[in-house]
Amino acid sequence: MPDSMMLNHDMEGLIGSREPDNISGELIRRAGARLGLSREAIGELIKPQNIYAFRLPVLLYGRVVNIWGCVVLHNNARGPYKGGVRLAPDVDIWETTELARLMTLKTAVTDIEFGGGKTGIRLDMSRLYKIYGRTPRDPEFETNVKRNVLRDFGLEFKDIFTRHIYIPAPDMGTGPLEMTQIYNATMDPASVTGKPQGIQGWLPGRKESTGYGVAASTLKAIDILGLDPKSVKVAIQGFGNVGSHTAMFLHEKGIKIVGITDINGGVYNKDGLDIEKLLEYAEKTMTVAGFDGGVPLTNEELFSLDVDILIPAATGHVINKDTAPIIKAKAVVGAANMPVTPDGMEILESKGIMFFPDIIANAGGVIASQLEYSGSLSARQRTKERVLEIVGEKIEDAFERTVEIARQEKVNLTEAAIQLAVMRVHDAMMQRGWVSTTTIA
Ligand code: NAD
Repeated sequence: MPDSMMLNHDMEGLIGSREPDNISGELIRRAGARLGLSREAIGELIKPQNIYAFRLPVLLYGRVVNIWGCVVLHNNARGPYKGGVRLAPDVDIWETTELARLMTLKTAVTDIEFGGGKTGIRLDMSRLYKIYGRTPRDPEFETNVKRNVLRDFGLEFKDIFTRHIYIPAPDMGTGPLEMTQIYNATMDPASVTGKPQGIQGWLPGRKESTGYGVAASTLKAIDILGLDPKSVKVAIQGFGNVGSHTAMFLHEKGIKIVGITDINGGVYNKDGLDIEKLLEYAEKTMTVAGFDGGVPLTNEELFSLDVDILIPAATGHVINKDTAPIIKAKAVVGAANMPVTPDGMEILESKGIMFFPDIIANAGGVIASQLEYSGSLSARQRTKERVLEIVGEKIEDAFERTVEIARQEKVNLTEAAIQLAVMRVHDAMMQRGWVSTTTIA
């Protein structure tokens, strides 16, 4: 696979479809205009550098199933392309491009030496259950399916992984076990991050790091709003890697989590959920729905709960023109990538609801990934405490600088965070000679 420095000026022409209007591109455009960047430079910051579309014929339980996916390498001006592997039934090239672009912004705003990339693999588990005549939810079946898919994906892209051009990690639908399959293919501990305990180059604290960063951001929001932590109520959408660790860290700090939902439903308890018991329950059942430590809660109801902080930690665009009007929380902390649409953001602002930007709040995973990558290269080991401490410091630093820019430029925190990131990526692109100082007419 080429480590192409050639920018694809006509990527959309090649693909034969225009990238739909997207939030991150628009925010980069606005930040670039405020910084006085040329139109060409802004265009180069928005476009991905490489897109690979692929088909994997995967052997599953004696039968070949064709699975499609794409790897989007957005920008490596500041370091290797970095970003998770998403397994979901509805991923597409443009959504993956948007997520890869967010990775470029996230690594830049937190000032770590990575660029941005992402993988989207279309996997419809409910269809597979039907094809194989299985009854959902069968953890062993799902694990085997994912392992086989990731094994073949690891072999397909072994070259770019071992050359550290793109370093994958977990995202929605994948976790440490799936990362092991990439390691099996490469036998290189620095080729993938998010490896489980005991696998060469694994990092203590990596699996908890995104949730830790979201919890730290939530505590910061509570502090800024002048709320009393003892009486604060939180609701979380999503109880996967990010949602469950966020809940655990907040619970440990004595913060009450009253509502949690996932794709199958949810649970509410006005006195606070017993998070340890919920974790045990969800591990067995693969859902929070049906937990007897509260009453059932739907995803729609979650948004209108009478809480102080709302944490979307599942999928994107969930806070929009339909849900934003019913939100009663004083702050929303972005755990999922791009959880708020532009009209959702306008409504949040008009209601005076603070939004803690996702590219900072959920950056804990990639910050820890940088430590895992450099540790894998040098065989240097760190403790979980130190890893989480660094995550906290990096998030605090990015947030402080963002607040400063927001104040100076009179823009919201998301616009300010993106401006900081754009400035850093553009600087690196200039130094590498990827954008010209003169404007092409
Ligand atoms: P995960 O697959 O471990 O868990 C996802 C959770 O969201 C599950 O509980 C699932 O049931 C729920 N969910 C999915 N679709 C939903 C829907 N439509 N409605 C309600 N609930 C739904 O994923 P994760 O790793 O926890 O990632 C969650 C979010 O955080 C994603 O947006 C991801 O891109 C983002 N993120 C993850 C990391 C990481 O380190 N894992 C880092 C940064 C950002």
